[in-house]
Amino acid sequence: MKWPALRPFARQVRRVCDGLTGMKKPAPEFPAPRRYARDEHTISRRQISSAALKVLNRLHEGGFRACLVGGGVRDLLLGREPKDFDIATDALPEEVHKLFRNSRLIGRRFRLAHVRFGPEIIEVATFRAAHVAGDGAARTNDEGRILRDNVYGTIDDDVWRRDFTVNALYYDIADFSVIDYVGGVEDLEKGVMRLIGDPDVRYREDPVRMLRAIRFAVKLGFQIDKSAATPIAKNGHLLEEISSARLFDEMLKLFHGGCAQESFEALDRHGLLTRLFPLSTLAGTNGGTDSLVRRALENTDNRIRQGKSVTPAFLVAALLWDAAMKACKKLEKDGMSPHDSLAIAADEVISRQTARVAIPRRFTQMTREIWTLQSRLERRTPARSRKVYEHARFRAAYDFLLLRAADDTRLAELCDWWTRFQEVDENERETMLSGLKKNSGGRSRRRRRDGDAA
Ligand code: ATP
Ligand code: MG
Repeated sequence: MKWPALRPFARQVRRVCDGLTGMKKPAPEFPAPRRYARDEHTISRRQISSAALKVLNRLHEGGFRACLVGGGVRDLLLGREPKDFDIATDALPEEVHKLFRNSRLIGRRFRLAHVRFGPEIIEVATFRAAHVAGDGAARTNDEGRILRDNVYGTIDDDVWRRDFTVNALYYDIADFSVIDYVGGVEDLEKGVMRLIGDPDVRYREDPVRMLRAIRFAVKLGFQIDKSAATPIAKNGHLLEEISSARLFDEMLKLFHGGCAQESFEALDRHGLLTRLFPLSTLAGTNGGTDSLVRRALENTDNRIRQGKSVTPAFLVAALLWDAAMKACKKLEKDGMSPHDSLAIAADEVISRQTARVAIPRRFTQMTREIWTLQSRLERRTPARSRKVYEHARFRAAYDFLLLRAADDTRLAELCDWWTRFQEVDENERETMLSGLKKNSGGRSRRRRRDGDAA
């Protein structure tokens, strides 16, 4: 007998064992799912990446259940191009790994298989059940946050642990139908983000769902259903328990998805902005930072639209600029040199920010450079300006200067000069530099030894 033929039997045994040890919660009472047959929905296999199709088909041929789930189904039903394809199956991670040599198992909280096809990674998750209090394989902390949930289950279990109804639709490769337990298709039609289950409980289980609600609502142009929107205000503090590394991942998804401006505003409206960026309160969200930040967000969105690269360092530079400048001025007032003041102020604000959101060092280093270069762009002399122009971060620092200039008309002439400096040929550049000599570069004799900082 060939191995695949034994698999259904093995699964049967596993289920019986689960039942005996009480490790798995019995499937909750739920209405039968609505099935949209192949000709009742718009998803066609041609829209699914060939890598995802390969995984679905091989799992199916191996005797397993295999469904596309999550954003892939949601976006295809909306006529949008999915960012990636997630697959749910009743094969165990080890079984997935055996079927795909190009796979590896990852994750502690969720054990998943990643199947790699060139640059494309298909995430394959085994159906999981909701946790049971006190059970050994799934645990929550005192506040109800899920610490681990590796209790395997069936599709009937799996659906209830998903976050939003529109994220809980399954496209079944066995008959190409869409399976909907939770009214997700209807919510897609209405444009509503609705949490599955009791919103308070679901936010307590995983507070990142609040950020996800905002991210998807903005990206899809949906409303967050009142039942899911109202409890955000009182549960916002739960984000403080989330690891700073996970918050950085979410920050990137919120701000580098092409809707940074709207995401920022929605976070602010729901009171979550200061949970991610506590220093933005110190800086005063309605002051200068506000407009500088807004322009940085707009700049990020425009760059993404134009297919240009973006770095979180730029946004972080804008978000923390006011706080850094305030701290810097205070130190200068206490008699410290501008150079040292900026270095210390930067350390202070960056370390406070990274305690909340773990922005990797390579980005915070770039943020520092963008800041330090500001005064070097301002104080022009032939030698110094040539060096600044050749600096690896010149372009980012110049873009930042342009953002600042929108608030500060005194910087207009400076911006024009640097814009022209980049546009002209080398001869003309030399002329521009020698012109500076006559003007003494705009830097007072008294401050000459102060270093390069503002
Ligand atoms: P996109 O990939 O477009 O950002 P997505 O909905 O696919 O959106 P993923 O983070 O890829 O989001 O997650 C895939 C699916 O896993 C979700 O659609 C949802 O069903 C489930 N999921 C992800 N994160 C959570 C969570 N924190 N709580 C509950 N379910 C989740
Ligand atoms: Mg996804």
